[in-house]
Amino acid sequence: MSERKDLLGDVRRVVVKIGTTSLIKDGAVSKEFMDSVAEQVFRLREEGRQVLIVTSGAIGIGLKAMGAKPKPNEMPIRQAAASVGQSILMQRWSESFQRYGILVAQILMTFDVYSDRDSANNLNNTVESLLDNSVVPIFNENDAVCINEIKFGDNDTLSAIVASRTDSDLLVILSDIDGLYDSNPSENRDARFIPVVHRIDDSIKAMAGGTSSGFGTGGMKTKIDAAEICRDARCNMIIASSKVYGVVYRTVAGDDVGTLFVSGDEVPKKRRWIKSAHAAGRITIDKGAEKAVLEHRSLLPVGIRKVEGEFRKGEVVEIVCEGRIIAKGVPSYSSKELASIAGRHSDEIEGILGYRLHADAVLSENIALLTI
Ligand code: ADP
Repeated sequence: MSERKDLLGDVRRVVVKIGTTSLIKDGAVSKEFMDSVAEQVFRLREEGRQVLIVTSGAIGIGLKAMGAKPKPNEMPIRQAAASVGQSILMQRWSESFQRYGILVAQILMTFDVYSDRDSANNLNNTVESLLDNSVVPIFNENDAVCINEIKFGDNDTLSAIVASRTDSDLLVILSDIDGLYDSNPSENRDARFIPVVHRIDDSIKAMAGGTSSGFGTGGMKTKIDAAEICRDARCNMIIASSKVYGVVYRTVAGDDVGTLFVSGDEVPKKRRWIKSAHAAGRITIDKGAEKAVLEHRSLLPVGIRKVEGEFRKGEVVEIVCEGRIIAKGVPSYSSKELASIAGRHSDEIEGILGYRLHADAVLSENIALLTI
């Protein structure tokens, strides 16, 4: 068996992320590309694999249909275009899949839906039910209603979250580039291709440093962030070029196409959710508490210096020390309650609040470290 096939194992469930650059050719949606994706998905399903799709492209398609040319950052017209474009986009996907007798479903995501644990669980049930009924779920961010605060921002992150939530074995990110290089190839002609990444460390992150120069939507940086989300979910990830013939089928089959990010040990689902959920506030802690959080995932009220934002019990917050976010967590108390017990010993909690749920401000199982 080839090294790639060995590393990938048997892929039962795969998420395929399709970027705008792959879908739109010369200003128009590439029907040929969509048909080819549908055909490859058909073949994968014939082999007993399940496929989910994350698609971009709605804003571009909508702007073209409306004949609109907004100025950069002109939100209302972009959001209007997203709602026009999304229905055209789904119609096109639907037509392509119909050729192979496959039914598709549209799932529009917002970060706040995902950040609410009940909604996230409901979504999971919907997806499982669709897959049980042989439907291909097609995700996109709901740009028509999204304001910046509740945005995933790019479909790289969204696709990784979908892969993580649905316990997928592989995420394939299709892009205009054939994978990760040791520096941005559009700026450096000598950039070298990296076929496999076993560990995402600072040197790997530094390779994607060139993205801020305005290339694409997320560039490589958001793709590496996506790889970190996948790693924690025991999901492999491949970045590959949409121009490679049969790219979806071939990556799943373990051909040497694109850059493979090998998954790591699985982090419990709840901690994964905490890590990527929207933070409703922040707790600043002192150095002693930082040590306790990092070493034992323990945070008592006595180590809390400041509480910012308004949050309820059950919402996710950032845990910050000296300006650096070291962890995220779900506190056992609301922001108001935490503010009144900050800096106090745990045996004072009942006297101050009139009840005591836990001695910890945030329980260990509800803390996800961001520093590793
Ligand atoms: P998509 O729209 O398909 O998600 P993006 O344009 O957002 O694609 O991201 C791919 C781009 O990232 C490449 O075309 C390249 O210009 C840029 N990039 C930055 N750093 C790197 C790197 N180290 N290796 C490869 N591509 C890089």
